[in-house]
Amino acid sequence: MIRRREFLMGLMAAPAPGAAHVIPASVLVHEHILVDFGGVKNPSKYDLSEVLRAARPHLEEVKKFGCVRLLECTPQGLGRDPRLMDMLAQAIGLEIWTNTGVYGAANRSAVPDWAWKADAKDMARRFVAEWKKGVEGVRPRFIKTAVNGYPLDELDRRLIEAAALTSLETGMAIASHTNGGGKAAEAQLEILDRLRCPLKKFVWVHAQSEKDHAYHERVARAGAWVEFDGIGPKTRGWHLDCVRFMQGKGLLDHTLVSQDSGWYNPAEPGGGQYRGYTYIYTDFLPELGAEAGRQLMVINPRQAFGN
Ligand SMILES: [Zn+2]
Repeated sequence: MIRRREFLMGLMAAPAPGAAHVIPASVLVHEHILVDFGGVKNPSKYDLSEVLRAARPHLEEVKKFGCVRLLECTPQGLGRDPRLMDMLAQAIGLEIWTNTGVYGAANRSAVPDWAWKADAKDMARRFVAEWKKGVEGVRPRFIKTAVNGYPLDELDRRLIEAAALTSLETGMAIASHTNGGGKAAEAQLEILDRLRCPLKKFVWVHAQSEKDHAYHERVARAGAWVEFDGIGPKTRGWHLDCVRFMQGKGLLDHTLVSQDSGWYNPAEPGGGQYRGYTYIYTDFLPELGAEAGRQLMVINPRQAFGN
């Protein structure tokens, strides 16, 4: 018997992408495959093969658009599952990168008990150890962290110090989910500067929530990456404004874009509503032209996060 969900997936499967929408060797820098909002206190259980079933058609579909790598940005405490990512990567033939770090947003729900007590050096030691030994056998390839707002409080500052120390030792980039807009982004750059961590290692995640482009320009001119996330039909106008602003300033080489899409939610029946990964290829990047598409999806992801 065909399961209802699989039957519906079949009906929804998009036709093969037109040549204009394919970006060979492209990288998605900020998406999710699984997110569990239960946090560290209330983690959900899930069946790996069920997640595979839900995620597979979406990952296979985006591969047809030339995507070769997806950075899975779910942090520890919100369902980071390197073993699952590895299983999916093998099954689908797509690189999936996982991360290390501690995420301080979402009302601190993802902050493990040890992180409240550890100083920045202790934290960094743990992150570096994950990078060296792997998490469940899988090596994280970037640092994912988050600050809860501006001004940064003591824990926010410590998380960013730990991320900077980890970056200095491993070379990994720091993707920081930034609540608090441009002021919070600049406050993080000051911390990196103080620790002599190159600003090109910093990715300002969720820069689209800052409405004043002056911050986007300043952060990019300082050498850091400005990442506009959550691209989709509802926000397309603003996202185009943001990217065109950067383009107009000659700062497209410090700009990243993502959909922040997905994902299997183990707290919902059947994993809930899974949003796919292809909108950016079919509807967003074509507005900006082939050259910008290549810059944003092929060159910049490698410049920012490595090969
Ligand atoms: Zn995200």
